[in-house]
Amino acid sequence: SKPVVAIVGRPNVGKSTLFNVLAGEMISIVKDTPGVTRDRIYADVDWLDREFTLIDTGGIEPDSRDIILSQMREQAQIAIDTADVIIFITDVKQGLVDSDSKVADMLRRSGKPVVLVVNKVDNFDKYMADVYEFYNLGIGDPIPISAASRLGLGDMLDAVIAHF
Ligand code: GDP
Ligand code: MG
Repeated sequence: SKPVVAIVGRPNVGKSTLFNVLAGEMISIVKDTPGVTRDRIYADVDWLDREFTLIDTGGIEPDSRDIILSQMREQAQIAIDTADVIIFITDVKQGLVDSDSKVADMLRRSGKPVVLVVNKVDNFDKYMADVYEFYNLGIGDPIPISAASRLGLGDMLDAVIAHF
């Protein structure tokens, strides 16, 4: 069967946007604010003759900051249990936040391959300096992308399929 790739990250970082771009259609609901979205959603994706199943683990996203972390832990655990490769997505505009670090620790301990992605790098010249702080997560080189502008996705997918 095909390898499974799961997208994990805080609400509003762009998980569903990335999922839809890779799926080639609007399957997952994109929202301007964190909130209730659809349950886990799957799509088949091809990249350079490699096929995989992509999961948006967004699910029901919490409104309260208090439960964001526990929800992220739950999503990360689903990804650890079901995925062959995890795309951990962060947001250059919000920067590195504490819940990113906590989930990164959890992913690192799992030993699963993780591709660290920094989204919303809509202008590589302007925001590249802000990408480097994500090295502090200790889970590898941060790959800058803009899901909305479809920038950096080839490099990201190359990093994903390198783990198959
Ligand atoms: P999710 O909660 O992680 O699934 O995030 P969504 O995909 O719903 O996106 C949250 C918000 O971020 C929406 O307003 C998106 O349009 C916006 N967004 C997603 N990707 C990008 C990006 O690459 N650049 C910018 N500037 N905004 C983005
Ligand atoms: Mg979503």
